[in-house]
Amino acid sequence: MSSGNIVPIACKYGCNTRIYWDSSQNAYFEVFTQKKHDCPNMLSMINTNKNSKSADMIPAEYHYQQRTKLKPKMSNSFELLSGDTVIQIQKQYELLSDIVSNYNGKVHGSQRDYNGKTGLLDIVVYYEVPEGKREEVKENFEIEKTRLE
Ligand SMILES: [Zn+2]
Repeated sequence: MSSGNIVPIACKYGCNTRIYWDSSQNAYFEVFTQKKHDCPNMLSMINTNKNSKSADMIPAEYHYQQRTKLKPKMSNSFELLSGDTVIQIQKQYELLSDIVSNYNGKVHGSQRDYNGKTGLLDIVVYYEVPEGKREEVKENFEIEKTRLE
């Protein structure tokens, strides 16, 4: 960057350093040292904000929020996939696992089977999704499944 483009300003965090914006580096540089300006005042400001934020929160409330964030209540279910070919089953399985993960759920496992009555391949897929989302997952799966065929 040529020096003609430098527009020096005083650091807004009050550290008395002349700086300029270098758009190619996407950072403030110090006019005098030509180094990236890691402002000591800004860092202490961020730390102060962080401290005052966590101090506002009652510990019990904070821990409850952390716990529920880590482990929401889950609902379990399964779907029976069946089709003439392995590819059909694969597509249904992939579709289901995509939908389940879109809802922040998890596929637990599956069980293969051969349906003697229909002659179709069967696979039972077990999964869990956050509480209250089970019906949405099933509806979505039914709708999307018809598009596969
Ligand atoms: Zn500064």
